[in-house]
Amino acid sequence: MSFGARVEIRLDALKHNFEVLQGTVPGSRVMVAVKANAYGHGLVTVSRALAHHADAFAVARLSEALRLREAGIEKTIVLLGGVTNRDELALAVTHCCALVIHSEYQVALLEATKTVPVYVWLKIDTGMNRLGVAVEDANGLISRLRQIGCDRNLGLMTHFANADDVSDPTSKQQLQRFLELADHFDGDVSVANSAALLGWQALLNAPGMWHHTGETWIRPGLSLYGVSPLVGKTAADLNLRPVMQFESTLIAVKPVRQGDRVGYGGHWLAQHDSVLGIVAAGYGDGYSRCLPAATPLLVNGRRVPLAGVISMDLCAVDLGPNARDAVGDPVTLWGESLPVEEIAQCAATTAYPLLCGVTDREGRLS
Ligand SMILES: *Cc1c(COP(=O)(O)O)cnc(C)c1O
Repeated sequence: MSFGARVEIRLDALKHNFEVLQGTVPGSRVMVAVKANAYGHGLVTVSRALAHHADAFAVARLSEALRLREAGIEKTIVLLGGVTNRDELALAVTHCCALVIHSEYQVALLEATKTVPVYVWLKIDTGMNRLGVAVEDANGLISRLRQIGCDRNLGLMTHFANADDVSDPTSKQQLQRFLELADHFDGDVSVANSAALLGWQALLNAPGMWHHTGETWIRPGLSLYGVSPLVGKTAADLNLRPVMQFESTLIAVKPVRQGDRVGYGGHWLAQHDSVLGIVAAGYGDGYSRCLPAATPLLVNGRRVPLAGVISMDLCAVDLGPNARDAVGDPVTLWGESLPVEEIAQCAATTAYPLLCGVTDREGRLS
């Protein structure tokens, strides 16, 4: 076994989380978000594990879809950003990708090339002001798409900006705007990412909420990987289990004297005599340099604080004056017993960029 930082992916936890999420909107179809290397968990590893569970996989880039097809994944793959030109469109169609259409130019592209993709999701901007067509423009675009032959294979989707905050009324307003269209829609609809599923479950399941004639699709990403998308709720509160175990090893242990400085820039000053552990994990592995001193790690299952600035391949921890830890002992950067949500808080960020940043230097994820 290598002593370097490595990622263990718990597929039983992944499948458990899938079932929990599928249960949030009973009867729904599940589009599993595996973009950005499945949030650092391994695009192919995760997709193969859920190949029989998921109804579709969602990616951000055509290159991700092509990697999935090369790996033998046959399920529908949704390109969340659609395509931007004829070459991409041709490849996407050859590889049977479903396309999100978020702008008029993409409808024009289908018209000009007389292309009918296996499936088209028309994305409606209900207030996030990122991708999506205006509610007022949607019906015109739906007619154009129907004219070129998109009929049963046309769905409507939208995306919430603030679903992680259950006290923020914006999500309800976005849903209301979406329903103006969806209520009269003859086809499938999709609104909910992780935060919407777990924070707005009651609203999504309210009796009489939906009047479209097709399926309701959910689009979990973060929660599937066992991470809470909600402010103030842990994964355990939501019955989710962490999928990624980010581990390394102590490769040096040494005394440090009061007043000694540690690491690049000498930013960390020993307040008392202690024992330092040097861990084989750094930002080259995805252990973000944004994490400040005192960020917790587990050494032999015991919480210890980060000492000094994280370097490319290494970081230091303060093991405490009475430490008995030794070279070769296990270190957990995040995972079970040390939620990545908590680590993210230390750097005033979210779990998303930390997970996506894992580089898999040891090559275990594909
Ligand atoms: C990434 C993404 C998701 C999944 O979001 P999570 O917050 O990770 O659950 C859902 N829908 C769209 C459009 C996305 O881009």
